[in-house]
Amino acid sequence: MKYLSTRGSIAPIGFKDAVMMGLATDGGLILPESIPHLDRATVAAWSKLPYRELAFNIISLFATDIPKQDLKELIDRSYASFNHADTTPLVKKNGVYILELFHGPTLAFKDVALQLLGNLFEYLLKERGQKMNILGATSGDTGSAAIAGVRGKENINIFILHPHLKTSPIQARQMTTVLDANVHNIAVKGTFDDCQDIVKTLFNDLPFKEKYALGAVNSINWARVLAQVVYYFYAWGRLPEQEEVIFSVPTGNFGDIFAGYLAKRMGLPVKKLLLATNENNILSRFVASGDYSLGQVVQTVSPSMDIQLASNLERYLYYLFNENPARVREAFAELRQTGRIVFSAEEQKQVQSEFLTCSVGEAETLKTIADFYRETGYTLDPHTAVGVHGALKCVTDGSSAVCLATAHPAKFGEAVEKAVGAPTPLPPQLAALAGLETRCEVMDADKDLVKAFLEAKAN
Ligand SMILES: *Cc1c(COP(=O)(O)O)cnc(C)c1O
Repeated sequence: MKYLSTRGSIAPIGFKDAVMMGLATDGGLILPESIPHLDRATVAAWSKLPYRELAFNIISLFATDIPKQDLKELIDRSYASFNHADTTPLVKKNGVYILELFHGPTLAFKDVALQLLGNLFEYLLKERGQKMNILGATSGDTGSAAIAGVRGKENINIFILHPHLKTSPIQARQMTTVLDANVHNIAVKGTFDDCQDIVKTLFNDLPFKEKYALGAVNSINWARVLAQVVYYFYAWGRLPEQEEVIFSVPTGNFGDIFAGYLAKRMGLPVKKLLLATNENNILSRFVASGDYSLGQVVQTVSPSMDIQLASNLERYLYYLFNENPARVREAFAELRQTGRIVFSAEEQKQVQSEFLTCSVGEAETLKTIADFYRETGYTLDPHTAVGVHGALKCVTDGSSAVCLATAHPAKFGEAVEKAVGAPTPLPPQLAALAGLETRCEVMDADKDLVKAFLEAKAN
């Protein structure tokens, strides 16, 4: 399997190079040259396999340049860190299915992708005799999943900046209690934007970037998308009837839902993908009316979806534009110049044949958590509640709906408590953090301080 860029200007590369490249060197996103198609019998047989076997079957269609035995070991190791025998169990509550994606080390769905990516990085760096220094900024969730993905790995250091005292205490502890020598938490006295600005500036410092082999773990890495395709098949295989279903996906960067789109293209019987957003609803507007125009980011109770520019949308646009990279380049030039992309009537029709959408406000989100808790005793986190609300409101044709549950409710305890009126019990993994030692470097928001720190710690 070879890979290309949505912008059309890289020579075809293999899977291993695609993982190491991250963002395509022409500024586009990496995609496979063709999407493998499975017949119905194969879909039916594979989707009933245990998680790791299914993951191996699907990922090996795309990772054709890694020896099968090595790939199998990488996958087994990645999902051994999950604390549920089903890895991503499917439960039914109140007439909808909930696909629990939060049984990984940091109790968020990003673990599904980042556990695999961490192992892939370690494997490929060793093979190539290279080292990597991962640098990133986080407002909470992604940072801890990235750290959990690479802690203790050889030839990798990770430097994660977070705004000092501005992440939730649990999220800060999830990061700073990781004491492995290759993990470096930096608490910046400033905002999340200050953290991001510093990271961007250092990535733009090309001699520095090269010298320290700076790497990123953001959601545009192809391996992350690929890892997420697996659970769509897995969920479908656990339904009592093998029918066409709707997946409801709480969406921020469009990575998770794009994996669902790929699963559909591979032959999974998906009727529609329901794109659920919070008040940051640029993607909902795109689906509902072809209006893709940037607004201001607003803060919500589902902060991991507080995003305007959805980095993975470009992958879908490549297919919407009939795999024409010139049209992709044009669209992003238009976005840069005018702050929006305009779609033809035909394109809008195509989008609506594949997606439903629902934009859910804070009151509705909290009410969904409260109602669900009262009626079923099951606690939704605020991100998951956005998708569940979408499914209860927008799936009106009697289809079965599978809602992706992207975080454990205890990670967003404050919002959940506001909704249900009582604190959510902490799972043992989070409760144990309270007594642990922490390590973190507190720093002024100054790129030179971060740079000097990285120089001192990188090896
Ligand atoms: C990242 C995240 C999302 C959004 O996923 P995307 O792939 O960015 O669309 C939803 N919920 C939680 C809890 C997340 O951490």
